[in-house]
Amino acid sequence: MGFSTVLGQELLKKELLRQIKGNTLNHAYLIYGNPGLDPQGFAKVFAQGILCMDKQGQIPCGSCTACKKVLSNNHEDLVIYQEETLKVENIRNLEKDIHIKPYSAGKKIYIINYGEGMTPQGQNALLKTLEEPPSYGIILIVARAKEALLPTIQSRCQGLGLKPVSREEIYEDLKNTRGYEEAKAREAAKIAGGKIKTALRFLEDEDYENRRKLLFNLYRQMGEKGITESLEALEGLSVEKDQIEEVLDLSFSFFRDLLLYKELQEPRWLINGDQEKIIQSLENSCSKEGILIALEEIEKMQGYTRANVSAKSILEMLVLNIHQALRDK
Ligand SMILES: [Zn+2]
Repeated sequence: MGFSTVLGQELLKKELLRQIKGNTLNHAYLIYGNPGLDPQGFAKVFAQGILCMDKQGQIPCGSCTACKKVLSNNHEDLVIYQEETLKVENIRNLEKDIHIKPYSAGKKIYIINYGEGMTPQGQNALLKTLEEPPSYGIILIVARAKEALLPTIQSRCQGLGLKPVSREEIYEDLKNTRGYEEAKAREAAKIAGGKIKTALRFLEDEDYENRRKLLFNLYRQMGEKGITESLEALEGLSVEKDQIEEVLDLSFSFFRDLLLYKELQEPRWLINGDQEKIIQSLENSCSKEGILIALEEIEKMQGYTRANVSAKSILEMLVLNIHQALRDK
């Protein structure tokens, strides 16, 4: 048990353990990173560490009453907001609730799992609580990027930025902890780009590989065909709302590969090494500037995934905005 269930993030884990043991915890943290790095999971283990009743051995111990309650989402002093949108009313409720003293623990923790889903009014309401929190109150805000929150919120939280994990560590985890066979674990760790949840998606979702190939094929076609044909090709790729993040992530890793290949001509470093042919053909038709534009556009679209924009519209915007960039040479 302990923080070891969280892959990588050694510096953060060390710092937080120090704060838990020394009782020097802050009142607010902003935990941010790509969803594939599982920042929500990180927040939960952190909360478990704070609430754990056995501070002698590994923290969290995983076996005391408090740890078990956190695992089963039943701890009286831990409130997790799963809503993708939080309005002023929700935050006002949080504010009322945080002033009720903890039941069993010395701390009372709130996790906001979609920080970027808080309306600006909601964030302003939260500001009041962040300025004068009760001594026992701790708020963990999870977000894709820290810029997703107002600067005033950012400055009142300790920022905890999650970093991609090494390929080797993901491989070991898949093979030794999760019991995947060696070859599968290697393949998944390679494609994951440092993100454990991406590796698991690859291993557990049968359609993932299919979507991945269709997507990269779409980009190949975009390098050769007109805008109307490219939009038609997009029809063949059906993407549900909960898959759009993954598709944008895949797109990002594809164009990152394309850029790398253009610069180094070295297939060894490609994440999507199995797609070398497509990468090679596109590399001839577009410029470095075009690829950088594509990467920027993908990041922009990632900002839309939490807004009420459909997966289809996001992909259409992306195709329209990067089409030219893929054939500018
Ligand atoms: Zn415990």
